[in-house]
Amino acid sequence: MDHKEFRVKAKELVDYIADYLENVRDHRVYPGVQPGYLHARLPTEAPQAPESWDDIFRDVEDHIMPGIVHWQSPHMHAYFPALTSYPSIMGEMLSSALNVLCFTWASSPAGTELETIAMNWLGKLLGLPDCFLNEKNDSPGGGVIQTTASEATLVSLLAARTRALMELSSLNPEVQSSELLGHLICYCSDQAHSSVEKAGLIGLVRMRYIESDEHQCMRGAKLEEAILNDKDKGLVPFWVCATLGTTGSVAFDNLREIGEVCEKHSAWLHVDAAYAGSAFICPEYRHWLNGVDMADSFAFNPSKWLMVNFDCTAMWVKDSTALHRTFNVNPIYLRHENSGKAIDYMHWQIPLSRRFRALKLWFVLRNYGVVGLQKHIRESVRLAQKFEALVLADQRFDIPQPRNLGMVAFRLKGDNTLTERLLKRLNARGYIHAVPACFKGVYVIRFTVTSQRTTNQDILNDWSEIKTVASEILMDTFGSENGNIVMPKKPRISLKETRELNATFGTSLLLANSPMSPKIVNGTHVAICDYEQVLSSCAQTFAQLKMEPKDSPGAKSEPIGAKH
Ligand code: PLP
Repeated sequence: MDHKEFRVKAKELVDYIADYLENVRDHRVYPGVQPGYLHARLPTEAPQAPESWDDIFRDVEDHIMPGIVHWQSPHMHAYFPALTSYPSIMGEMLSSALNVLCFTWASSPAGTELETIAMNWLGKLLGLPDCFLNEKNDSPGGGVIQTTASEATLVSLLAARTRALMELSSLNPEVQSSELLGHLICYCSDQAHSSVEKAGLIGLVRMRYIESDEHQCMRGAKLEEAILNDKDKGLVPFWVCATLGTTGSVAFDNLREIGEVCEKHSAWLHVDAAYAGSAFICPEYRHWLNGVDMADSFAFNPSKWLMVNFDCTAMWVKDSTALHRTFNVNPIYLRHENSGKAIDYMHWQIPLSRRFRALKLWFVLRNYGVVGLQKHIRESVRLAQKFEALVLADQRFDIPQPRNLGMVAFRLKGDNTLTERLLKRLNARGYIHAVPACFKGVYVIRFTVTSQRTTNQDILNDWSEIKTVASEILMDTFGSENGNIVMPKKPRISLKETRELNATFGTSLLLANSPMSPKIVNGTHVAICDYEQVLSSCAQTFAQLKMEPKDSPGAKSEPIGAKH
């Protein structure tokens, strides 16, 4: 492909991308293919002769797209969001073209400096303490972009391990590091992501899992009890990973309690906020950050919820010398005359080479602005609240753990197998896609609001799909679409009783007859409550749901299948 052809074909590709993202909601979100489908369609050898771009791209349409899970679809509810956006795609395009490897300042000064600047901006947006920023060259703290939250966790564990081994070696100079390693132990909650376990496996250290409380949170007292027990056995606690926003239920470990325990026992505290970290750009969610000043490292994924396409994990450390000690190798070919005067990010990570990821982060921060990013986060939470309200209004379903942020974990009441069958059938139909979680033996479906393009109507459509499939399963199992749930009879209140209960009964009729209000104001509720209660209840409902006329199933009752 030469410059001339690139100009034409790349512009066509941009149109293809815009068409795809504009219409992504119309795709069946989960593909109906079986393992090996692509092997059966593509040749087993690479072509000897060059192939035309048109031929190559035809195969994308014919063979690749049929096997794609549409992660950008509003009907994608599995895992956590992995969002992209136009400014991010443009950052990726430009970075691919420049293709600089920002391992030292000298290898691309703009790449290094933009990363430091963007990470300072982002750290301030989250309200991180100044000790995590790198605004002056001699500051020990700072931010770095890692590929994934898993890698940030491993980097943190390895840095803490180096610190602990150095301290132990100075106390026991005659003992080999390999022997000292056997004494180290680290901690996380039983709800921590599997990447924490993996970091322990790679780091060759023992990991103790702390039992979470009834809200799936790790608490200081349990952690300290375990640490004291381990110290009695001659073990050396050196690293604790707290999670803000667990994968199963978006639970938040108690950072302040954990931080105090870590400080007391000189353990490195790492905070894994992979999904929830994006929410901290909204001040109303920062109460979960209380205690972050006691952390040694903190990481979250703008590549999840903040619309910076994968890969991009923002990690901050209080003291980068711990990273340097762990990852510093200094061959002559990587030295430069400004070594020491600027950051060389190769000392902050495992690989040498690194992509210019700061560009897409910087584009997104500038193009959305703080206001745009906050609006996006708040809208996802509002839509999750809406879904939660729909689930709670159906007696057949249950939400065993309170919703936090943009994820609702729900289940069919009764045996786990009902919910398992519901999820299996939903995924097989492919109109929505979700994955399960299990809290202490209770099986749930995780419903995450993912796309920035999700509308009220998408949520209503998805809920309608879930209800349809649930009714089928309950009908198959119990011969009734209500399963074995006995629906409470609606209380019958006579007109006379109503009048006696509420002197302002006339007002309720007025409300119920005004245009649109019947969809929002329940006439029965209005009739039996006093006027002030009604007003405050309405205000709360409006504030949470911001329902619009088009939300009314009556006003727009398109079946879900029609949309897909
Ligand atoms: N930590 C938590 C809490 C997560 O939820 C996830 C993934 O969803 C990860 C870590 C792993 O993220 P990554 O794929 O960036 O390694």
